[in-house]
Amino acid sequence: METYATALLYAIPFFVGLVLFEVIYGYFVKNQKHNVMDTVSSLSSGLTNVVKDSLGLGVVLVTYPYLLEHLALMEIQTTWVVWVLGFLALDFAGYWNHRLSHRINFFWNQHVIHHSSEEFNLACALRQSISNLLVYFPLLMIPAALLGVPHKVVAILGPLHLFAQFWYHTQHIGKMGWLEYIIITPSQHRVHHAINPEYIDKNLGQIFSFWDRMFGTFQEEMEEVPPQYGVLKPANTWNPILINFQHLWRLIKDAWRTQSYWDKLRIWFMPTGWRPTDVAEKYPIQIIDDVYNFQKYMPAASPALKGYSIYQLLANTGLMLFMFYNYAEIGFDGLLLFGAFVFIGIYGYTSLMDKASFAIWIEFFRALAGLLFIYFTGDWFGLNAYLFFGSYLVGIYFLSTIAGAVYFAYFENTSLDKEQLAV
Ligand SMILES: [Zn+2]
Ligand SMILES: [Zn+2]
Repeated sequence: METYATALLYAIPFFVGLVLFEVIYGYFVKNQKHNVMDTVSSLSSGLTNVVKDSLGLGVVLVTYPYLLEHLALMEIQTTWVVWVLGFLALDFAGYWNHRLSHRINFFWNQHVIHHSSEEFNLACALRQSISNLLVYFPLLMIPAALLGVPHKVVAILGPLHLFAQFWYHTQHIGKMGWLEYIIITPSQHRVHHAINPEYIDKNLGQIFSFWDRMFGTFQEEMEEVPPQYGVLKPANTWNPILINFQHLWRLIKDAWRTQSYWDKLRIWFMPTGWRPTDVAEKYPIQIIDDVYNFQKYMPAASPALKGYSIYQLLANTGLMLFMFYNYAEIGFDGLLLFGAFVFIGIYGYTSLMDKASFAIWIEFFRALAGLLFIYFTGDWFGLNAYLFFGSYLVGIYFLSTIAGAVYFAYFENTSLDKEQLAV
């Protein structure tokens, strides 16, 4: 896991740099595909994902090395053939995992965050899950295990395969000729993120596009059907942690409320969006029916609130980068605590962006806990060893979050429409 933390130290600045490049490019060609609040929300979601993944939280059903040991029919040498086979196997597994996530109620919860942005840009690619708590992916790697693809190869290819899915989240690249027949392109992935009836649940491939053609899920982007982005049940919040559990919460409520025991059991494995008839009647949920005319989530935000959101994003990213940098020194318990500070921070400022009335309390208690932690340990997780006034700096940051929360809760009009936050 330490190597993953190190890899992220390099990957994160690279991704953020490309997001910035896209913003600047959009500005100069006068075709901006970003807005501040959505992009901050997307990048914050990326933060929650890497913190969660670096802590390795989750229930592992089975590991790849275990499958390899028990299933391998042959032992192949590590030649270029193995790398190609490994990559194909990963992409095949990725296709089916993605298809499962789209089609089954329970699995949709772990993927909805990725589709929750109503924009489509490079930042949206970083909306990655924290609710994938059941690790079953190795089961989909059985073909690779049968072929005896070494664990080392899979471990190296895994992050590369994921990172290679970043670039095609853009509206600035058109169709790409013959490449469309081989790899997933921006055009194909725009279709994937679209909620138009013509496009929904199509193009589930990750790197290669032939799986979709093979298994009947391919759809070309059509000029007369401009993609409209988002999810049919809009998230209506900038808070990525909430979005990660919205669908699960709806399922739990439905399973609890329905009179039918059969429905209580099967709701989890039914197609995405399926609901027991009695609760669907009693507690209707609004679904977008006209994809060209729906209100995007966009609560009023002053320039000050936008600036403050960026400041908070940068501060929490800085904290997280230090957490990765000092990963080995901090130790697991410390990392959990550190991760909690980052998580609660993101929860707090994205709630402030939502203009939620409870945001100020989250910010206040987090800042208080942070200040007490610095007071009693005399440090911030070893930061003073690198920067002698480091913990003072973090202390000042916590004080600034109290000031920010008070300002945006009381001095700017943040009167609340709580309904828009209701799940
Ligand atoms: Zn998807
Ligand atoms: Zn995507």
